[in-house]
Amino acid sequence: MLDLKDCDLEGLKKLFLEMGEPAYRAKQVFQAIYAQGKTDFETISPLPKSLRQRLSEVAILSQLVPSQTLVSNDGTTKFLFTLKDGYCIESVLIPHNGYYTLCVSTQVGCAQGCRFCLTGRLGLKRHLKTSEIINQVIWARSFLKRKHPWPLRNLVFMGMGEPLHNYQNVLRAIKILLDPLGLNFSHRRLTISTVGLVPQMLKMSQEVNISWAISLHAPDDDTRNLIVPVNKRYPLATLIEALKRMPLPPRKRFTIEYVMLKDINTSKDHALRLAYLLRNIPVKINLIPYNPHFSTEFKGAGLEFERPEEREILSFQQILQNKGYTVTIRKSKGADIGAACGQLDGK
Ligand code: SAH
Ligand code: SF4
Repeated sequence: MLDLKDCDLEGLKKLFLEMGEPAYRAKQVFQAIYAQGKTDFETISPLPKSLRQRLSEVAILSQLVPSQTLVSNDGTTKFLFTLKDGYCIESVLIPHNGYYTLCVSTQVGCAQGCRFCLTGRLGLKRHLKTSEIINQVIWARSFLKRKHPWPLRNLVFMGMGEPLHNYQNVLRAIKILLDPLGLNFSHRRLTISTVGLVPQMLKMSQEVNISWAISLHAPDDDTRNLIVPVNKRYPLATLIEALKRMPLPPRKRFTIEYVMLKDINTSKDHALRLAYLLRNIPVKINLIPYNPHFSTEFKGAGLEFERPEEREILSFQQILQNKGYTVTIRKSKGADIGAACGQLDGK
């Protein structure tokens, strides 16, 4: 059966036309699902009874309810969702002062194989459907409405998976999230994090206006090849060229993510080369001290990494700041419940 949550507004309009219904019905249904949170066709009152009946014969409105909810000492909350086919995915809700950010998953596992990432070690199991992406957000939003005065304001596609590898489903999810009749998030508050799939970056930046985070992690191809295998396909020069071509509204900047791996990418020389590589591109840099994994399953399966000392991280930051960059250090939240970056493995 067709899940209406797999359709954006355009898709719904097409569907209703095929059913011989006027396009405004699509708008009514879209609004009922997202703005009013309806989960049952019977309760969508502007629709005639016969249409409600027909819809319930051919379509469903899926929902995701976590099979487990873990709350960290620092207030970070991890939802574990079991999908219809038994696979598990995670979303992480992170508190800030006055609002929340949700870290959303886009795939079960990931095909990109970055050497320091637990999700990467799983390999790709499958893409998430649009509905499975959207339902993570709907659940988090309703969870907060019940439990907390602060709203869900920011979304980051930084959970399990590489969002641009699941291009069509992610694009449809973004359209639903940004639509004023849909979940109505601001494009400034929706960030895609990508390992750097260049053709998809160029394409998506033409189709929707969102914020971008690029997982760079190294200032030269030799270092990056070692830890981010996809660099062999899209080397740094190609990636930097793409950033220069992507449209960016005034005052907006790319976020450059840089996982700090002891003895691999944290020397003074790396910092200086990074500063040079990013010259003339509007960026802010976010340093992510490596989070060790809890999983013992993969021991010995790849490289073992270590988090650098605090003073190493600070001096790396200082060098970049001296060159005029805005550089933040990501505070790892939720590490005690396996919810920090790179710790998501659906367990
Ligand atoms: N696939 C996308 C988004 C998911 S990963 C991407 O790679 O950008 C989200 C972020 O977590 C990425 O910047 C990734 O490099 C980082 N990350 C992965 N494993 C990590 C680890 N063990 N410690 C710290 N950050 C990690
Ligand atoms: Fe995939 Fe991102 Fe992990 Fe790389 S860091 S393996 S792209 S999830």
